[in-house]
Amino acid sequence: MKRSLYWVTKDLRINDNTALNIASKSDLLICVFVVDKKWFEPNHYQSKSLGGNRWHFLQSCLSDFNERLLTFGQQLYIVYGDTFSTLGNLCEKYRITDVITTHLPGTYENNIITQFSDSFPQVTVNKVEQFTLFTNTLLPFELQQLPVSYSKFRKIMTDVAIPKLAPTVQNLPSQFKSMPSPTIFRPQWLPPILYKKVKQGFNFDGGENDGLKHLNQYFSSNLPTTYKEVRNNLDGWDNSSKLSPWLGYGCISPRQVMNAIVGFEDKQGKNSSTECLFLEILWREYFQWLHFKVGKKMYQFKGLSEHLPLTTFYPERFNKWCTGNTPYPLVNACMNELRKTGYLSNRGRQIVASCLVNELSVDWRYGAAWFEEQLIDYDAAVNWGNWQYIAGVGADPRGGRHFNIQKQTALYDPNGNYQSKWLDKTDQASQPLDSVDASDWPVPMIKHND
Ligand SMILES: Cc1cc2nc3c(=O)[nH]c(=O)nc-3n(C[C@H](O)[C@H](O)[C@H](O)COP(=O)(O)OP(=O)(O)OC[C@H]3O[C@@H](n4cnc5c(N)ncnc54)[C@H](O)[C@@H]3O)c2cc1C
Repeated sequence: MKRSLYWVTKDLRINDNTALNIASKSDLLICVFVVDKKWFEPNHYQSKSLGGNRWHFLQSCLSDFNERLLTFGQQLYIVYGDTFSTLGNLCEKYRITDVITTHLPGTYENNIITQFSDSFPQVTVNKVEQFTLFTNTLLPFELQQLPVSYSKFRKIMTDVAIPKLAPTVQNLPSQFKSMPSPTIFRPQWLPPILYKKVKQGFNFDGGENDGLKHLNQYFSSNLPTTYKEVRNNLDGWDNSSKLSPWLGYGCISPRQVMNAIVGFEDKQGKNSSTECLFLEILWREYFQWLHFKVGKKMYQFKGLSEHLPLTTFYPERFNKWCTGNTPYPLVNACMNELRKTGYLSNRGRQIVASCLVNELSVDWRYGAAWFEEQLIDYDAAVNWGNWQYIAGVGADPRGGRHFNIQKQTALYDPNGNYQSKWLDKTDQASQPLDSVDASDWPVPMIKHND
């Protein structure tokens, strides 16, 4: 008798979900999502893994997925606590024979699976490759032979056929008897629900329903034909696909996106914009496989390079960067948009990342960790991989990227519209970066008369 636990992670969808297809072949099934307490605690870069904007987005993804499971007589058990012990307790309680989950490149998920397999050797763990577009066996090289640069990867991969979608499940097995009824219990460590819809900026609604709706709208419009010309703009819903938050939680899959691009090209014809969009999805793919290959090197100060960067940690500078109080108005505007909405254009991300590393000389990992907390589309491989590129410690032979902020402002915000939208009235741009200048040392002692 196959008694399965489907550990749901970044695969919050019914369609094109191979893991759910495998789970559907079980005799009894429990679908579990663990909201881990650690996500809300500060890490050693002073940020949390999950901030308010993404937590809000995730909750709508979870409730959408649960509603869909209910139509199959199943439901999503959302458990708050420690992931490893939650999975272990459920396996013991329901005498689970099989655990099914999506194979993710992140070290957090993989450590849990390793720990789990060591503690429960009798349970079969099935890690399903579907966060990526291709599976390992479809790659035309061994993972250890992954090309060292994206441009080489892209040349090889553009000729590989896009995989077809997995069939949609028709039925799901029954739940176990004596399942606890879902509660509205919220542990104290969960952040209070403070979320307000932002008046300006984009509001993304989580879940497969909205993700598919957006995917269909985008590819039923003409927008993909002009993507290349407008994708670098700092503002505007239509300037890029805005698919990333739904891809991040697996509400839609990269296979669905690539099939939509190919379908669009079949109907409307290929052009440099549709090709460019295709290549962006391949970028995402490249970073996933790179992360699978290099593991924790993705998070190391020297990254994949052989040298340590010449940056360090300046708490005041970092804090000013996070809160949009640097001497650079464009950077402040971008950081305000990111903090308030959880989204920032690709160009905006490049500018602020370059500023942190090059102008503020701060260790890039603090910036990557801040992005991890803030972004609603956070993706471990894509985020840390892009930060490595900017910091010059990635797999890229060209070294780091230094964006000239003045030039970027002239190019992408010549009339200051973006800045006036996002800058606070009390913008600190005229203030110096450091409140204490190196030449001020030694700082005179302040006498307290108490
Ligand atoms: C420092 C930095 C950190 C980033 N962190 C993340 C992150 O955590 N999560 C994330 O999804 N993207 C990240 N990106 C990549 C990119 O900025 C976003 O994917 C993009 O802005 C999302 O908007 P979109 O869906 O409209 O993108 P589009 O321009 O419409 O692109 C379509 C899709 O292609 C992929 N893509 C686009 N640009 C890149 C890129 N540079 N690298 C890899 N894949 C890409 C994404 O899946 C995106 O949804 C980061 C970029 C930088 C410079």
